[in-house]
Amino acid sequence: MTTTNGHTNGHSVRKLNFGAGPAQLPYELLENVNDEFLNYHGAGANIMELSHRSSTFAKVIQDAEQDIREILSIPESYAVLFLQGGATAQFSAIPLHFLNLKPSQTADYLVTGYWSEKAAKEAEKFGKVNWVVPKESKYQGVPTEASWKLSADPSYFYYCANETIHGIEVDDIPAVVPKDVPIVCDMSSNFLTRPFDITKFSVVFASAQKNFGISGVVLVIIRKDLVGKNTNKSIPLILDYKIQIDNGSMYNTPPTFAIYIASKMFAWIKQQGGLKAINERSDEKSSLVYQTIEQSNGFYVNFVEKKYRSRTNIPFRIVTSGVPDEKLETLFIKEAIQSNMIELKGHRAVGGIRVSLYNGISVEEAKKLVNFMSTFQTNNS
Ligand code: PMP
Repeated sequence: MTTTNGHTNGHSVRKLNFGAGPAQLPYELLENVNDEFLNYHGAGANIMELSHRSSTFAKVIQDAEQDIREILSIPESYAVLFLQGGATAQFSAIPLHFLNLKPSQTADYLVTGYWSEKAAKEAEKFGKVNWVVPKESKYQGVPTEASWKLSADPSYFYYCANETIHGIEVDDIPAVVPKDVPIVCDMSSNFLTRPFDITKFSVVFASAQKNFGISGVVLVIIRKDLVGKNTNKSIPLILDYKIQIDNGSMYNTPPTFAIYIASKMFAWIKQQGGLKAINERSDEKSSLVYQTIEQSNGFYVNFVEKKYRSRTNIPFRIVTSGVPDEKLETLFIKEAIQSNMIELKGHRAVGGIRVSLYNGISVEEAKKLVNFMSTFQTNNS
């Protein structure tokens, strides 16, 4: 099919995008957005051209909140906020609000990779941070809980559920953290890929551009009573949870288009059968890739401890004669592009290849990738 501006907009021109984010969105969602692009529900304008105070946008953000509350069974005691500044802004907002919550004036950070390390270093600007495990030179798993050094009564415990660069996922909420310690979690790269019990957390946040939309919005789910306990009067307006809660995420102009896309993704997740179905898809997709790696006789190698292997970000190296073969990795990426598969280059911190399998990637698409991997191995080993 050719559009009026001459571009072909059929499936055929789309490439298969395994990027770590911003990432591929479901095709049917893009088609739907395309249909609404010039005239959103008869408004005669794109949603991004309408006032955030309009009744039309009010319905978008209300529907988004209602859907995410339904998907995760979020009780009224939690606020749901759609904010700007990405997950990175939350690295500052969290210590600003909560570092001094308890007399210890210390927060415990479990650092398991690039992103939790960044969050811990940001928190150190504002007060005392206890690194629960020593800094690793290479992140390839999580030290056993028995070795963790927790503070006596920390203001909160912080961790990252999925390290996007290192491909390390912590499935379970750490059991050694005492029940009365607020748990704060960065779920940016595995949010909405599995069900979880929000009532076990005090704050969960996630950038949208991986599993539920585009960059520009970060979702923050936060216990309202905890926000009420903040005593820091010097929080910048834009980071202040109370102000954002009191104003329904609209203290200033919110990222309207990003919220609109998030609302579409929430509706899409519900249509798929909710998080139970999404969880099964995520298992299936990642198993395909891990099985291919494991059955490759050491041609493809993922260095992460099995228990902590991420389902959404899979870094691996191509190894010949016992060492990573950068030439072959470059060829892999080049031939993948020739097969219409893009964004497979690993992060510079770990090198090699990285496959990201967010919600916008289907099982069929993951199968195409593993078929390519098998053929590549046959041709090059
Ligand atoms: N945390 C994690 C786990 C991430 O993967 C990212 C982005 N890749 C961030 C935080 C930072 O998010 P943003 O760029 O939206 O600030």
